[in-house]
Amino acid sequence: MVVARVFGKSSAEAVQRERDRLAALQQLDLLDTPRDEGFERIVRLIKDVFFVDIGIVSLIDAHRQWYKACSGLSADEVSLEDTFCRCVVDCDEPVIVQDASKDARFSKHSAVTGEDHIRFYAGVPLRTKAGHMIGTVCAIDRRPRSFSNRELGILQELTGAAMDRIELMQSAATDSLTEAMTRRAFKQEADQLISLALRHQHDLSCMVFDIDHFKHVNDTYGHAAGDGVLKAVASICKSTLRAGDLFGRIGGEEFAVVLPHVDREGAVAVAEKLRAAIAAQPIFGDHGTLNVTASLGSSALSIVSKDIETLLAQADAAMYRAKDGGRNRCVSWNSIHADHAIGARRRVLKAGSILFNDRRSTIDCTVKSIGADSAGISVSNTAGIPSEFILAIKGEGFETSCRVIGQDRQNLEVAFR
Ligand code: GH3
Ligand code: MG
Ligand code: MG
Repeated sequence: MVVARVFGKSSAEAVQRERDRLAALQQLDLLDTPRDEGFERIVRLIKDVFFVDIGIVSLIDAHRQWYKACSGLSADEVSLEDTFCRCVVDCDEPVIVQDASKDARFSKHSAVTGEDHIRFYAGVPLRTKAGHMIGTVCAIDRRPRSFSNRELGILQELTGAAMDRIELMQSAATDSLTEAMTRRAFKQEADQLISLALRHQHDLSCMVFDIDHFKHVNDTYGHAAGDGVLKAVASICKSTLRAGDLFGRIGGEEFAVVLPHVDREGAVAVAEKLRAAIAAQPIFGDHGTLNVTASLGSSALSIVSKDIETLLAQADAAMYRAKDGGRNRCVSWNSIHADHAIGARRRVLKAGSILFNDRRSTIDCTVKSIGADSAGISVSNTAGIPSEFILAIKGEGFETSCRVIGQDRQNLEVAFR
């Protein structure tokens, strides 16, 4: 069901603070990055030290709380309006709730009244050195309990350790599971290759791909089997690509490739080769043999797309189109561009609203890329969102009618009308 949300703070100051917070989060570029043992250790410690059921390290974007690590709950993320941590964002300081069933702010919350049966919550802001709140670290229990100042101090120390880990991760170049480059390292190297290509006027293209129905693999065979599939897919890619190609893991089960000296048509051919190789290769593991497929999007250097953020945004848009078209296929940005006459984009992280049903329905979203005539948007769930709606960007006076040109479970690609 779609619920209109009333914002706790609507002052210009709160809007500016939210904008700065999202800018800091974008700068760190950590959302949807792979699982990391350092954060897993922190959430295990939270459970062991405080004897609670749930420990979470989370990042908070415009519409959701995304779990960088979580022990004790099965979800990867939750819509922001459904979280206790929203309260930490709103008041910008630690929040302790000894018994949520007796607290007017939370007693009617579905996590309290429903089967999750949450009672105790302690959440501390996860803050950058510059002071921007990018997420929370929290301890949650199904029984009421108190939390001493000493315990709060320990939770704050663990939050400090999480922030130190985030800073340390900024310099990591290789993803330990797949041995692909990390997102940050991939982008840095990609920008160098792009500079070279521009200077010497040679071609360069980019490819993004995401494994199809990967949730099903995890849900059916377990996380370890899912990890095995990721490793195998990365290995197929490395053996299919050339030594000079750049290969990065840019999300949990999302990868990107930069192909120097390869033009638009060449990129389509490489994408198709990769698609076929992934689909054809049986993956062996403890669970038996599995077959997976991937959807791919490609884009190429051009007069308007001369940086990796733009190339990735275009390849992303093409990939969602491939998902929409039935998966296990490749789509080139150029073909969408020709169909919808849409131009370049830049990557952003902005708080937006999707309005429909004569503006009676509102859904919070995060605008992830935007150009003069199109945008890429993330929501908690695309089900129930009509094919045409109004996109508004809060605090910027931006509002326009859109139509959906590609989508998956949580992402929408829209062209402005
Ligand atoms: P779609 O075809 O639309 O892509 O469907 P999907 O099921 O693949 O959906 P989506 O891309 O949204 O799901 C990604 C899943 O990948 C969710 C997350 O739990 C899982 N995942 C992300 N990172 C990892 C990881 O490092 N290991 C494992 N095993 N799973 C991961
Ligand atoms: Mg995905
Ligand atoms: Mg997927």
